[in-house]
Amino acid sequence: MCGIVGYVGSLDARTIVLDGLKKLEYRGYDSSGIALRCNNDFKIFKDKGRIAHLCEITDYSFKTNMGIAHTRWATHGMVNYENSHPHISNNKRFILVHNGIIENYRKLKIDYLSDYSFYSETDSEVIVNLIEFYSKKMSAEQAIRKAMSMLEGSYALLILDKENMDTIYCVKNKTPLNIGVSNDGITIASDIIAFPSNVNKFLSLDDQRFAIIKNNNVKIFDLMGFEVEANYKELKLDEYSISKGNYEHYMLKEIEEQPDVIRRIITKYFDNENVLIDKNLIEAIKNSDKINFVACGTSLYASFMGKYFFEKLCGIPTECFIASELVYSNPLMTKKPIFIFVSQSGETLDCITVMKKYKDLGYKIVSITNSVESTMAYFSDFILDICANTEVSVASTKSYTASIAVMSILAKAVSNQKTNLKNNLNRVSLVIENIIQDLKPLIKDMASKIKDSNAIFYIGRGIDYWACDEGALKLKEISYINTESYSSGELKHGTIALIEKGTPVIAIVTQEGTNSIVRSNLEEAISRGAKGYVISLESLAYSKDDIIIPNVAHYLTPLVSVVVCQMLAYYVALYKNNDIDRPKNLAKSVTVE
Ligand code: GLU
Repeated sequence: MCGIVGYVGSLDARTIVLDGLKKLEYRGYDSSGIALRCNNDFKIFKDKGRIAHLCEITDYSFKTNMGIAHTRWATHGMVNYENSHPHISNNKRFILVHNGIIENYRKLKIDYLSDYSFYSETDSEVIVNLIEFYSKKMSAEQAIRKAMSMLEGSYALLILDKENMDTIYCVKNKTPLNIGVSNDGITIASDIIAFPSNVNKFLSLDDQRFAIIKNNNVKIFDLMGFEVEANYKELKLDEYSISKGNYEHYMLKEIEEQPDVIRRIITKYFDNENVLIDKNLIEAIKNSDKINFVACGTSLYASFMGKYFFEKLCGIPTECFIASELVYSNPLMTKKPIFIFVSQSGETLDCITVMKKYKDLGYKIVSITNSVESTMAYFSDFILDICANTEVSVASTKSYTASIAVMSILAKAVSNQKTNLKNNLNRVSLVIENIIQDLKPLIKDMASKIKDSNAIFYIGRGIDYWACDEGALKLKEISYINTESYSSGELKHGTIALIEKGTPVIAIVTQEGTNSIVRSNLEEAISRGAKGYVISLESLAYSKDDIIIPNVAHYLTPLVSVVVCQMLAYYVALYKNNDIDRPKNLAKSVTVE
């Protein structure tokens, strides 16, 4: 969600920060802006809209070796020019870009800044003026630290000061900010993928830290102004993952990468038939009396499969929590719970907030994530890498299947049961290939039939119902069709009233025990005018079913049925000419509450 890039060095800062912003574009934003050093001044260009527009309005006529840039995902105030970043303080001394939310901005405005004029509705403009307010009595550095100590909420900030023209100040709390070093200069970015390719080492700024970048040097301080050690890590980026290759969209590329991701997971977590997972993690789960999954969106739907595995294979009661709900509620805890957080980016703010809360209470924390360098990984006792490489499309695909595959392996390790999981996962990767190669025309055909619908329903039971949840989410996200998922038995308790002539109802049937009942429920909808579609597993298929998936182990079927749903959503959105990789209103990593 949103993004920040800054650069100071010997090269053209404009190119580096604009290129960086383009790499962050997938995270979702609504406005963009840039401040560039021009001799002894800074020039600002900003507006609502795409980075392509920012590139058009940026002046290329002057030399610049220092700049900060921002993509905004509006949280306070409309999407317009005034609210776009950078923001500038009243006396025009300080310039700032901000990702995050300042919770107490109203109070700060009333208590300290009543004499100030505000030109935007943002919380961010309060910060830049608060810094100016304190700078009248102290150095810029002290003023920034003082302002920081008063802010409540989340913030990654880059600040420029006209009285310290060679310095970029960086501030971080809860929202990610990384500093990368290369031979020609220093780049700051909210995500390491925005770094230029020659950055070879980087550090992730900790919460409540303040960095001063000056003369090709990085110094890091705590809130009190004491210098702290800068711990650099080597930067290894997978270039293929962040390029689109020959694909028109990242989403299709990432759907088609799924067989490889599953194979990578098998290689990482299996040594022949033995599972390679930290023994201490296995013991920690065995010693717990309940597993609590915590996640949002796609990762939440993947967690329901985790619940299924742990309850079925290990007999450990398991519950799935929506992270944003747990922030504000305190459900009764058992004596020895363990928490498993699931997040592709590892930067989901709601998850981080809950994670800190339960870590402070002394509970063991596990993260299943695609980013082992992330904030969530940092706070975890145990980290499980889903090995999916960078996922760029806002609509998640490979991280769903990868998370479930990792959960199945973890549950097997805990249960110690002799299952044929490794072969079964191998089979899954082959079947996904088969869906991609052979079932594509059928899926496209189904997409063309449902593309103009106003509403669509997915129905299923048990683990098919959880796959329906994810299938419906994919359709909503990129086709903008109102799609709901229902346990098929629930339809007649209300929702069936919404069925009109031709409303598509898509049933997923991959489970023997529920095959006929789900089909009966579909018939009930068809009798009321619905147009029924069936996605089934070969062993349970009727010849007239629309999409028949080759068999996989019964407990892994969402890994394949979901691929059909992902492709269906993709082709519906393609027919509708939607912006598939950057759907409206959505952001990739949700770093605000
Ligand atoms: N809260 C700020 C705003 O609404 C920053 C949003 C962002 O993270 O992009 O402008």
